[in-house]
Amino acid sequence: MKRLVILGAGTAGTMMANRLRKGMPAGEWQITIIDQDRRHYYQPGFLFMPFGIYSEKDVIKPKRQFIPQGVEYAEAEIERIDAEQNRVLLRSGGPLDYDLLIIATGAKTAPDQTEGMTGADWRKRVFDFYTFDGAAALHQALHDWNGGRLVVHVCEMPIKCAPAPLEFAFLADWWLTERGLRDKTELLYVTPLSGAFTKPIASHVLGHLLEEKRISVVTDFSIGSVDSDRHKIVSWDEREVGYDLLVTVPTNIGDAAMARSGLGDESNFVATDRHTLQSKNYENIFVLGDATDLPSSKAGSVAHFEAEVLTQNILHSIQGAPLQPDFDGHSNCFLESGYGKAFLLDFNYDLQPVKGTFPFPFVGPFSLLRETRINHWGKLAFKWIYWNILLKAVPLPGIGHRMSRAGKQIPPEALKAPTA
Ligand SMILES: Cc1cc2nc3c(=O)[nH]c(=O)nc-3n(C[C@H](O)[C@H](O)[C@H](O)COP(=O)(O)OP(=O)(O)OC[C@H]3O[C@@H](n4cnc5c(N)ncnc54)[C@H](O)[C@@H]3O)c2cc1C
Repeated sequence: MKRLVILGAGTAGTMMANRLRKGMPAGEWQITIIDQDRRHYYQPGFLFMPFGIYSEKDVIKPKRQFIPQGVEYAEAEIERIDAEQNRVLLRSGGPLDYDLLIIATGAKTAPDQTEGMTGADWRKRVFDFYTFDGAAALHQALHDWNGGRLVVHVCEMPIKCAPAPLEFAFLADWWLTERGLRDKTELLYVTPLSGAFTKPIASHVLGHLLEEKRISVVTDFSIGSVDSDRHKIVSWDEREVGYDLLVTVPTNIGDAAMARSGLGDESNFVATDRHTLQSKNYENIFVLGDATDLPSSKAGSVAHFEAEVLTQNILHSIQGAPLQPDFDGHSNCFLESGYGKAFLLDFNYDLQPVKGTFPFPFVGPFSLLRETRINHWGKLAFKWIYWNILLKAVPLPGIGHRMSRAGKQIPPEALKAPTA
C-alpha cells in the first residue's frame, strides 16, 4: 500500500480527507491524517462569540466526527517534515513515511511577536477574537463595558479572513447602540493598510460605511509595541493611540513545524505554486488552506475551492498525468455589517470584489458589494453549511472553484487587482 499523509485536520485537511477517500483507490492507498487538537473549531463563529450570538456549542465539535471511515486519524504534534526522506516526525510516536504529503497546518495568531502585547493588559484590556479563548474572554469584557475608547486593531497583513476586524467594528457599533452605550463609546479602527480593506474598490465602499457609523479610522499604523502602563499602542513612526479596550488581531503566522522543516518563509508560510498547489520545492508535497504563501485570502472558502482543484491534481499525480493549473485565487466572503445586514465579496487573483449578483447572474439571491438582509442570512446559514456540507465534501450546487464573471459589473480598474 502507498501512503498519503495529510498534516492538519482543520478546515482544509478534513475536506481533503473526505474528498480523497471518495476519489482514491482504497486498496492501493492508505490515507492518514494527523492533528494535535481533538477539537474542530468553526473559526468564523469566533466573530459572533463576543456579542453573545454564538457560544461554545456553535463553534466546537470533535474532529473525529468529520474524518471518514477508511482514513486513519492520528492525534499527535508534528515536529517536522524530513522532505528528503519522505518522512514526518512526530513529537511522540514513531516517524511516518509517505509517498504523497498534503500540508494543511493553517495559520495561528502570534501575540508575542509584538513587544508588550502579552504584558499586564493582556486579557484585561487587550483581547483578540481570533482564538476560542480570546473570543470567550472578550465576551466577558464586553459584558462589563460601560463606555470609553474601544480600539479595533490589526497588527499586520496577511491575516485570516481580512474582513473579520471590520466586521467586529460594525457589530460593535450595532451592539453598543442596542445597549445605549454607543454615545458613551469612541470607536476607532486602526489598520496597517492605507484604507479600510486590502482591495481598493471594496475599501472605498467600506471606508464610507465606517464614516457613516462614526468609526474613526487610523491608517498606515505599523505597530511597534503595546504600552500597558499607559494603555497605548505605539507605531514604529512613534504615533500613539490610547485605548480603554483594545481588540487586536495579532500577527498571523504559519506553524513552527514548517520553519523546523526548512519549508517556511519568515512567517512560516510554505512556498506553493499559485495555480496547481504543488510545493515549489518538492514534487510529492502539496499545500492548501492558510498554510500556503499564496496571495489569495486566508479563508475557509478559499480552502474549499483549493480542495476541489487539489483533489483533481492528487488523482492526476498518482496516475502520472500532468497537474492542472486550475486554482485562480477564488475567494468568497460574507462581511457582516450590523443591524442584520451583510455584504458579500467574490474575487480572485485577477478581479477585485465588484457589484453584482451571486451565485446566479441577475437572480442572486445574494448581492455583491452591497449591504442586504439576505446576505446576512447567508452568513448565518454558512455555519450549517460548514458542518454539514463543506467539511464532508458534499457537492454545493452553483458554487465552483473557478470564479464566474457572470452577473458582475466590472469597471476596468477592477481587473488590476493587487495580489496582496
Ligand atoms: C475570527 C475569524 C473569522 C473568520 N471568518 C471567516 C469567514 O467568514 N469565511 C471564511 O471563509 N473564512 C473565515 N475565517 C478563516 C477560516 O477559518 C480559515 O481560513 C480556515 O479555517 C483555514 O483552514 P486550514 O485548514 O488552512 O487551517 P485550520 O482550520 O486552522 O486547521 C489547521 C489544523 O492544523 C493543526 N496543526 C497545526 N500545526 C500542527 C502541528 N504542528 N501538529 C499537529 N497539528 C497541527 C491545527 O491543530 C489545526 O487543526 C475566519 C477565521 C477567523 C479566525
